[in-house]
Amino acid sequence: MLHKGRWMLGPLLLAGALLTGCGTQSGHDEARPPAEADAQVQPGGGEAIGQPQGGAAEPAPSKPEAQTGASGAHAEPGKTGSATGQSGAGGGQAAGNGDGGAAGSSGKPAQDAAEADAIRVVAKPEAISALVNKTNKLPDSYKPDDLVDPDVPFTFKEKLEKRYMRKEAAEALEKLFAAAKQDGLPLAGVSAYRSRETQAALYASYVKRDGEAAASKYSAKPGHSEHETGLAVDVTASNGKCAAQNCFGVMKEAKWLDEHAHEYGFIIRYPKGKESITGYQYEPWHLRYVGVDTAKTLVQDGLTLEEYMNQGVPVSQPKR
Ligand SMILES: [Zn+2]
Repeated sequence: MLHKGRWMLGPLLLAGALLTGCGTQSGHDEARPPAEADAQVQPGGGEAIGQPQGGAAEPAPSKPEAQTGASGAHAEPGKTGSATGQSGAGGGQAAGNGDGGAAGSSGKPAQDAAEADAIRVVAKPEAISALVNKTNKLPDSYKPDDLVDPDVPFTFKEKLEKRYMRKEAAEALEKLFAAAKQDGLPLAGVSAYRSRETQAALYASYVKRDGEAAASKYSAKPGHSEHETGLAVDVTASNGKCAAQNCFGVMKEAKWLDEHAHEYGFIIRYPKGKESITGYQYEPWHLRYVGVDTAKTLVQDGLTLEEYMNQGVPVSQPKR
């Protein structure tokens, strides 16, 4: 099972080789060469990180559980230079997933302090609809206990931490990829799960390089990355082209995902035109599993997860 220490966060992480979010975002690092496939975290123990534990997957709630929440960003680290080729943080993304980036860059300077005061701890982090963003943080001790390695191609061969997803999401991803392939548009995963340790290491490396104020604008603090839920995955075309980069948005694969992802329970988490709500610019490659019912509702109503959670009746609130 998953355990800290299982993953070795390579020293390179702190070497400052990390790149930031996806190309579009803030002008950070755009100039740097896209580190290829994220950093690599290698399963230290060789042991599987995620074994379904007691089939604890969520019951696929069709209504929001967890918290109400709001704005924010899930920021993830962009890429990690896999410079050293060896272990690194599982996090960095290949093309530096935009994950992570945008939010801050959209210019909300003074907001940082205020946000720090408005951080809420996600009440039900294991909920499939859990909202994790800049203002909603996963509990410090949270670690999904049902991570598995989806049987889908990734842009790398190694058995890295970032291949894993929670069981239900992994199974849905397999169906999604199979359907895309059937339609002639084979996909590949770029980065999925990221542990708190990985996120912390990535964030720390950014702070070291750019200072906290700057780092917080393009990278998520530990606990705030949606990838830590094991329910998010960055995908790209099977040829790896435009992985986690804006150019993916004009590819047929992106269009296909936009039209079909919800049928398998995934949403394009950071859609166009919702930047002020999600805190992120459009990230056509970042998919978040929320379950089929919820995904269909979100798409049908044109809602972001933030909007949906605020509208719904949070299970965490007393019902009378
Ligand atoms: Zn992502």
